[in-house]
Amino acid sequence: MPTTELTPTQEFIELEHQYGAHNYHPLDVVIDRAEGVWVYDVEGRRYLDCLAAYSAVNQGHCHPRILQTLIEQAHKVTLTSRAFRNDQLPLFYKELHDLTGFDLALPMNSGAEAVETAVKAARKWGYKVKGIPNDKAEIIVCANNFHGRTVTIVSFSSDQQYRYGFGPFTPGFKIIPYGDAGALREAITPNTCAFLVEPIQGEAGIIIPPAGYLKEASAICREHRVLLMCDEIQSGLGRTGELFAYMHEGIRPDVLIVGKALSGGFYPVSAVLASKEVLGVFNPGDHGSTFGGNPLASAVARTALRVLIEEEMVRNSAVLGRYFLGRLQTLRSADVKEVRGKGLWIGIELHSPARPYCEALKKEGLLCKETHDHVIRIAPPLTITREEIDWAFERIRKVIETR
Ligand SMILES: *Cc1c(COP(=O)(O)O)cnc(C)c1O
Repeated sequence: MPTTELTPTQEFIELEHQYGAHNYHPLDVVIDRAEGVWVYDVEGRRYLDCLAAYSAVNQGHCHPRILQTLIEQAHKVTLTSRAFRNDQLPLFYKELHDLTGFDLALPMNSGAEAVETAVKAARKWGYKVKGIPNDKAEIIVCANNFHGRTVTIVSFSSDQQYRYGFGPFTPGFKIIPYGDAGALREAITPNTCAFLVEPIQGEAGIIIPPAGYLKEASAICREHRVLLMCDEIQSGLGRTGELFAYMHEGIRPDVLIVGKALSGGFYPVSAVLASKEVLGVFNPGDHGSTFGGNPLASAVARTALRVLIEEEMVRNSAVLGRYFLGRLQTLRSADVKEVRGKGLWIGIELHSPARPYCEALKKEGLLCKETHDHVIRIAPPLTITREEIDWAFERIRKVIETR
């Protein structure tokens, strides 16, 4: 018998469609609860989360220790603004320093804000320290980059959809091919202050540059006194099987940009880490954020970092990432072009659009999101177990091999 009654899922989708801006195209699953690697929809169905909120929940959904910190800190004090000091931010700074070795940190909220902060720091360093003539600083970026959505950041995107309708754009950026150190060398001028790069391009489809690329880029930057700025908002904090992806090449960037998993998904927390020479260019009043470095964010981020290290999630990412990649590389389908990855960050590149596969995987209880049309990204929380990977693999195989 036909009925006009909507399911709970359809009701929520209807409301969202009617009253929200349509700037996303989500899978039609309405989540109301999550724990570890699992999420549950409003009708009680369970799914394995293979996106982990774009790697913001590397520690697993609703990690109990981070949750406890959030609750305890929320009872004490949440926001002071930086007009006054709080007792959590200094401890967060110290924790970042001890973990990464960078002299200083500047806390923000979203990833895009941290990228904007890095751009401002690099430019000001260019004028004050390197001696670039005023307003002439150039920053080199890579084709197919993803660094966020602000006007300045989309000004140096090579993706027409990210830019269309949003001009006029911010000048001062030069786009070169990704993975080509020679192109970097050629693009540098006396006015170049920085090279901004993702060690692995996530949104572009888990694009892994040739081995040695970052090492060579680092040497070229040093030679020309250009800051190497790694955007590790998605690749960092264990995702690739090292704490940061730059560590695979034994280098150290001048500027490190982190976000996403910095809070384990509880709260927007981002930061720029660098030397005293770079972050020292900021004076009181130059830059800031009402919420940046607030006590709730700082407390949550401290626990999120500790959990990541103490519960050996980085090692799990390396070991189980290798295992998962090995299994996925056995997939037999004429539609699979390449399976590649590092740690628990895996891309299955197809000859045909990935969206229908993601819809089919959803029916099997796996949430994956296509990236750039032809790639299925597999990036579960770093707490995933071998048994859960086997469970996921059987479903992925069924969907990929029988389509
Ligand atoms: C997600 C992401 C950003 C932007 O972070 P938001 O928190 O969405 O502003 C920037 N760079 C990279 C590499 C990202 O993955």
